[in-house]
Amino acid sequence: MSSYIPSEDEKEKFMARAIELSEEGAAKGCGGPFGSVVVKEGKIVAEGYNRKFEDFDPSAHAEVVAIRNAGKALRTPELQGCILFTSCEPCPMCTATIWWSRLDRVYYAHSVDEDNDPLLGSYQSTILEFVNTPIDNRSIPGEQVKSKAEEAFNVIKKYF
Ligand SMILES: [Zn+2]
Repeated sequence: MSSYIPSEDEKEKFMARAIELSEEGAAKGCGGPFGSVVVKEGKIVAEGYNRKFEDFDPSAHAEVVAIRNAGKALRTPELQGCILFTSCEPCPMCTATIWWSRLDRVYYAHSVDEDNDPLLGSYQSTILEFVNTPIDNRSIPGEQVKSKAEEAFNVIKKYF
């Protein structure tokens, strides 16, 4: 855990930038109205807004874009010592990316609980239900290619 905790003024300043990015990206038609910044020791090291239309990439959510940019800027895939500001509560994909990135903390502005925001809230619960369904039974089903399982695992075992 980083010892750096932003002041209330800093929280507002960094969140204002995330919201500014949300507007900028959406106004340019790059993607949905969402923006994020990654901060390290009181300074913005990376920014992002949703780029799904710009990049033809359904995973280009603002948080993922900002985390990718932070990784490139800091030349590491692990962002201990960094915090994320995002204009909207992260979806499950971004939440997983936050977990993989090892960020210290996340600040969000808009909350997507279903009472507050029925549309985004329903996406949130639909994705969580999808993830919590066994892979073979999902609405986009998975199927194991059992004849290749050992070969794949042998490669994995070599590196872990
Ligand atoms: Zn997301």
